[in-house]
Amino acid sequence: MPGNIFPTSIAGSLPKPAWLAETGKLWPSWRAEGAALAEAQRDATLLWIKEQEDAGLDIITDGEQSRQHFVHGFLAHVGGIDFDHKQRIGIRDNRYEADCPVVTGPVTLDRRAHPEAAILRAHTARRTKFTLPGPMTLVDTLADRHYGDRRALAMAFAALLNQEARALEGDGIDIIQFDEPAFNVYMKEAAGWGVAALEAARAGLSCTTAVHICYGYGIAANISWKQGLGESWRQYEQVFPALAASGIDQVSLEFANSHVPPELMSLLGGKDVLVGVIDVATDAVETADEVARRIEAAGRYVPAARLCPCTNCGLAPMARPVARAKLRALGEGARLAAG
Ligand SMILES: [Zn+2]
Repeated sequence: MPGNIFPTSIAGSLPKPAWLAETGKLWPSWRAEGAALAEAQRDATLLWIKEQEDAGLDIITDGEQSRQHFVHGFLAHVGGIDFDHKQRIGIRDNRYEADCPVVTGPVTLDRRAHPEAAILRAHTARRTKFTLPGPMTLVDTLADRHYGDRRALAMAFAALLNQEARALEGDGIDIIQFDEPAFNVYMKEAAGWGVAALEAARAGLSCTTAVHICYGYGIAANISWKQGLGESWRQYEQVFPALAASGIDQVSLEFANSHVPPELMSLLGGKDVLVGVIDVATDAVETADEVARRIEAAGRYVPAARLCPCTNCGLAPMARPVARAKLRALGEGARLAAG
């Protein structure tokens, strides 16, 4: 049943079925092409809309079934970028290396990046959320041979994101979320030009806007990075005051099984807080009780009216039955916490 006291949603992505793309990968190859691929993406989107509704979630996403990767799905539509001669660079402050496209000229967006948002909007009566990569995370996932300045490139991307976000709002999407895992890596820059670029990306929108800041998908490189972060993860402390002063309406953060001191959530006064109560780095499925206890723990720092239970991050690399079970745990746990 929708209409939870604590409105539930996921961070964004869900696993792609094996008939759509390679499984267990963050950047999978598609199983089809052309019209057959578009049809398969639509099928997978409808399937996940239904699963989210059946789990009792209040806000529905398309599970990112029509994009290959949360950053490159947007970038694939951007001009001024060479995708054929990728360059191996260290990203997220050299946490891992990746073959990244290269910025070779001014970035442009001459078409819709995500027309598939219309499928989501047409097939659920519930509120919808659509995700876009944030400007700083885009900058951090590319090699740049044109701008020579990360802030300038971020602001150029912010203009393109704003263009797409306005179109998404026109589609009837209720919440537009920018994914900024890079905010947890470059905290000082994030509080400065990172938030400024985010503001530029959401300029003029009247729908709800959100930012998702996490410690990454549950992949090996991220798990080992987290192990080196110590007992108290205070990255959010540097960025939250700037976000609290910004026009962003909602902040999505990692909480379940993390070492984030919960009191840092109180730095987000006035914002809706999307509290990660589902761990995406383990296949162990939470019980509804565990989820409810996490919601109650967050409730000591976030007013009930602003507490929105969520997942720590996307569920893309997980097995489908695990992701399905975690959606249900989220819905059931939120209802339990609401009493
Ligand atoms: Zn995330």
